[in-house]
Amino acid sequence: MPAVIDPGPKATTSLESRGSPLVSTETQRRTLSALDLSRCAGSGDFDARLGAPLAPGAIEIFQINVGRLCNMTCRHCHVDAGPDRVRENMDRATIDACLRALDRTSAGTVDVTGGAPELNPHFRYLVDECVRRGKRVMDRCNLTVLLLPRCADLPGWFAERGVEVVCSLPHYRRLNTDAQRGSGTYEQSLEALGRLNRAGYGQGDPRRVLTLVSNPAGAYLGGDQHSLEAEWKASLAREHGVSFDRLIVINNMPIARFLEWLIETDNLQDYMERLVNAFNPATLPGLMCRNTLSIGWDGRIYDCDFNQMLDLESRYSDGERPHIRDFDLELLANREIVTGRHCFGCTAGAGSSCGGAIA
Ligand code: SF4
Ligand code: SF4
Repeated sequence: MPAVIDPGPKATTSLESRGSPLVSTETQRRTLSALDLSRCAGSGDFDARLGAPLAPGAIEIFQINVGRLCNMTCRHCHVDAGPDRVRENMDRATIDACLRALDRTSAGTVDVTGGAPELNPHFRYLVDECVRRGKRVMDRCNLTVLLLPRCADLPGWFAERGVEVVCSLPHYRRLNTDAQRGSGTYEQSLEALGRLNRAGYGQGDPRRVLTLVSNPAGAYLGGDQHSLEAEWKASLAREHGVSFDRLIVINNMPIARFLEWLIETDNLQDYMERLVNAFNPATLPGLMCRNTLSIGWDGRIYDCDFNQMLDLESRYSDGERPHIRDFDLELLANREIVTGRHCFGCTAGAGSSCGGAIA
């Protein structure tokens, strides 16, 4: 049986605050590369499984990670976010550079993420500017942040602007959620869901879309998104009287704090073998790195949020690394996507992306 995260009174603290060796993304990458996966199909060589380098398509989703500041410190966090990450927050000049770059793409969706993106002082400005441009805006929300006094008006504020709220909730059961996020999180999340419902979210209104994001509470793959959605809807309505529109299920990435947990519990080898052996070629056309550009808090550009957290920047064909202030759509279109062993997290089973299952 794959291991599950033990429920505890507190989630954890950031790797950064503890001075963990895994603060070094090079150490994280080396840890994954050093695993002996020779017993697995393709020996755990992601590029060999691809056959040819991944090429990007048109940018449909402009994902802006506005920082690593968060009111929570979840066990599985691939961002290593937390209340102590005050330094890594996107400033207004970088947000304006993002908006200028956005205007040069045909991206219809802006995906605002963090940390808890709502804690960035320029968050509302960014959302307003994207809405003004007619973009579909998604806010990646951890739910509990909506209970902070400074964010208490956000459900109504989002509703006025038609912002899609994409909320992480590991499970519809208290035990699984509190195990990853800290005790009391489940109650707070339900309170926040109720507030979103009262603002019109989660009732089937296309301008008030409420999406929940689930991830496994342990070293196993996410379940079937479609059947789980029905189960979640029924349980949350019956037990708590709250509703949502859709569920997306993602795999945990073997990076940052989830990597730490895998190492500490001696699950890393098994989990990587599980990911590698579940490689599904049908996921390749739908990988989010093919239609998404991910911008970091300091304006550096990545092929996806996971590469961002491993400091694997996008590269032009001449090896140069792009920055949002010098945004060049043509050079980006001709790049190859940077890949590594962590990519098996996206191609395992039904696949996994910021939009949920792929295949
Ligand atoms: S998983 Fe989300 S809510 Fe939890 S610490 Fe990371 S960014 Fe914050
Ligand atoms: S981690 Fe996933 S989305 Fe990112 S480059 Fe690898 S396959 Fe693409």
